[in-house]
Amino acid sequence: MEQSFKKLFQPVDLGFTVLKNRVLMGSMHTGLEEEKGGYDKMAAFYGERAKGGVGLIVTGGVAPNFSGWVSPFSIKLTSKRVARKHKVITKAVHENDGKICLQILHSGRYGYHPFCVAPSKIKSPISRFTPRALSTSGVKKTIRDFVRCAKLAQLGGYDGVEIMGSEGYLINEFLVTKTNKRTDEYGGSYENRMRFPIEIVKAIREELGENFIIIYRLSMIDLVDEGSTWPEVVTLAKEIEKAGTNIINTGIGWHEARVPTIATSVPRGAFSWVTERLMGEVNIPLVTTNRINTPEKANEIIENGHADMISMARPFLADADFMNKAKDNKSNEINTCIGCNQACLDHVFKQQTASCLVNPRACREVEFDELEKKSRKSKKLLVVGAGPAGLAFSAEASRLGHDVTLVDKSSEIGGQFNLAKKVAGKEEFHETLRYFSETLKNNKVDVRLNTQVDLDLVQSLNPDEVIISTGVVPRQLKIEGADLPHVISYYDLLSKDIKVGKNVVIIGAGGIGFDVAEYLLHDPISYNEESTKSFLKNWGVDTSYKNGGALLKSKDSSSPRHHITLLQRKEGKLGANLGKTTGWIHRATLKKSGVKMIGGLSYEKITKEGLWVNKKGKSELIPCDNIIVCAGQLPLNNLKTCLDEAHIKNHIIGGARKAAELDAKAAIEEATYLAFSI
Ligand code: NAP
Ligand code: SF4
Repeated sequence: MEQSFKKLFQPVDLGFTVLKNRVLMGSMHTGLEEEKGGYDKMAAFYGERAKGGVGLIVTGGVAPNFSGWVSPFSIKLTSKRVARKHKVITKAVHENDGKICLQILHSGRYGYHPFCVAPSKIKSPISRFTPRALSTSGVKKTIRDFVRCAKLAQLGGYDGVEIMGSEGYLINEFLVTKTNKRTDEYGGSYENRMRFPIEIVKAIREELGENFIIIYRLSMIDLVDEGSTWPEVVTLAKEIEKAGTNIINTGIGWHEARVPTIATSVPRGAFSWVTERLMGEVNIPLVTTNRINTPEKANEIIENGHADMISMARPFLADADFMNKAKDNKSNEINTCIGCNQACLDHVFKQQTASCLVNPRACREVEFDELEKKSRKSKKLLVVGAGPAGLAFSAEASRLGHDVTLVDKSSEIGGQFNLAKKVAGKEEFHETLRYFSETLKNNKVDVRLNTQVDLDLVQSLNPDEVIISTGVVPRQLKIEGADLPHVISYYDLLSKDIKVGKNVVIIGAGGIGFDVAEYLLHDPISYNEESTKSFLKNWGVDTSYKNGGALLKSKDSSSPRHHITLLQRKEGKLGANLGKTTGWIHRATLKKSGVKMIGGLSYEKITKEGLWVNKKGKSELIPCDNIIVCAGQLPLNNLKTCLDEAHIKNHIIGGARKAAELDAKAAIEEATYLAFSI
C-alpha cells in the first residue's frame, strides 16, 4: 500500500547522523524526573516512544545548575554520578532504534524558588520570587554550566542537547530590553543581548565536537509587549546557525503571555506560519510546533513548505505508537491528543506526575506492565452504557482477552462526549470517539446501540459480570417556576440544539456552565485558514509582526451573539475549579464576550420575566429570555439494585458511581484500572 504521509517519513540528514523521519517528540516535564525510581520509569516512558517510531526525542527540561531549577529540587545535571543514572534512559531509546537529546533549561526568573537569577532584578508577573541579577562573572559561569551539562549529557549517552531559548526562560530574558537592563557586554544593543545564547552554543560545539546534535529552541514569537522584533529573530537564527546549531526548533509565546498557544481552542497548526516566515533564512532544518496532533496536519505542514520538521509533545502521551500507526496508514487507530491539559500540564503544575486523559498508561508504563503480567481468565462481560467510562473499559478489557458486549440505549457511542464535542473549542472529542469506535471494531467488541438494558436482557446474555457505566442525569432545579418553558437543562440545549433568545441566564458555573456559555457565543472551530485567522485576530496576535512580541495594539471587539449572565451560589471567583492551565482562557474568553459573572447569591423563583435572585438580603430580577440549568449531575444507576437482587456480579464505574467532581479523566482512569483487575 502506498504510504500516505510521504513527507513525514523522509529522513533528515544532519551530516554525521540521520534522523529516520521528520518528527521530533517535544520536551515535556512529566514529574517522573523527581519521582522515586524515576530513571527506570523514564526509561520505560521514552523507550516506548522510541519503539513507537518517533525520529528524535527531546527530554523534559534539565537545569544546568541549581539556580536554574524550575522549582526546588527539580531535576538538574551537574555531576558524573547523575549522568551515569541517565544511561538507563538512553539505552532504552537506542535499543528501540531511537535518538534522544537532553533539554538544558535554565528557568531564570521563572524559577519558583528564592535562588532564581535573571539578567536584571525584575520579577515576573507569574512568580512570587524576585530574581537576583547575575553579575558578569555569573553570566560567564552560567555559560560554563551549560557546557558542563552538555558534556554530562554526552557521558549519559545522549545523542545531543536542546538549548531551551524560548518560553520566557533565562535565555529569552537576556534577549529583550523588557527583562534585560544590563550595562555590561550582555546588555544594551541586540548584539550584546544575544551574546549569551551564542556563546553557549559556540562553547558547547567547541567542547563536544561535530558529532553531537545541538538543537536551539528559538522564541520566534514572544507574544508579550516589548518582545523580540522579527528582524531580531532572523538575526539570532543566523548567528545561532553560525555558532554550530544543527536544528532550530520553534518556541511560541512566553509563559506569562495572555494568548492561548496549546489549548484545545487553538486551531490545529495555528502557529506554523511563524516558522514559515523563517524558512529560507537559514540552511539548517526548522521545526514547527504547537497544536499539531494528527499525521495529516503534520504532513500537510511539511508538504506546504511551512517547516522541515514537526515537533509534537502531548500527542506522544496520548499514543506512543503514533508514528508506527501513521507509517502503516492506520491514522484512524491513533489515540489523538485533545489538547485538554487535564492530566498532563495541569498535573505538573500541581506537582503531580503527568499522565494523559485519553491514555492513563502514559508515565505509568512500569505499573501497567506489572498489571498486564498478572494471569487472568477470559470472561464474558456485559458493559451497560457507552460513555467515556464504558468505552474505556470495553477497549481495555477486550484487548486483555475478555469477551465484551457493550450496550447503550442511544443511537451512538459517546455519552456526554457527544455533548462536549458540540462546544466551541472541544471539537477534538470527535477524534476520541473515532478512536474508540475503531478500537472496539478491531477488538471485536459486540456493540449494541438503541438497546435498553433490563434484567431480562442481562439474563438472556448470561454474562459472568456486568459493568454499570450508565453515567449521570442533570440535576433539576427545585424552585418555583423551574418548570416554565423558557427554563432548559444543558442536556436538552446541547442534545436537541434548542434555539434560545438574546438574553440568557446560566445557573451553575462549573465546567458545564462555562461550556454552555462558549457554545452559545461561538461557532465550533473548523480546522481551516479562516478559523486560524479569526483565532489569532481575536487574541490580538499581529500576523504582520509590526511590533516586538507580535501583539496588536487594539483587540477584536465584535458584539456578542447573546448577553449572558453566569451565576453560582458560592462566593469567590467563578470557574475556580476549571483546569489550572486552561481556566484563565475560559474566563478571558467569556469576559471578552461581555459575560457577566456573579457569585454569592441564592435563587428565589423564576417568572416569565426572568430569574429572581437574592444577593446580600436584597431581592432582584435578572431579566432574560431563557434560563439554562447547569447545576451539576446525579448518578444514574437504577440497574444496580436489580442486579444485586438477582445475584449477578456487577461493578459500577464513572458518573453512575459518583457524579460529583467526576470528569472524563477520572472516568477513563477508573475504567482502565477496573479492566486490569477483572
Ligand atoms: P460542577 O463543576 O460540579 O458544577 C456544578 C455547578 O452547579 C456549580 O457551579 C454549583 O455552584 C452549581 N450547583 C450545584 N448544585 C446546585 C443546585 N442544587 N442548584 C443550583 N446550582 C447548583 O459540575 P458540572 O459543571 O456539571 O461539570 C461536571 C463535571 O465535568 C465536573 O467535574 C467538571 O469539572 C467536569 N467538566 C469540566 C470542564 C472543564 O474543565 N473545562 C468542562 C465540562 C465539565 P453553586 O453550588 O455555588 O451554585
Ligand atoms: Fe493531550 Fe489531554 Fe492527554 Fe494532555 S491530557 S496529552 S492534553 S489528551
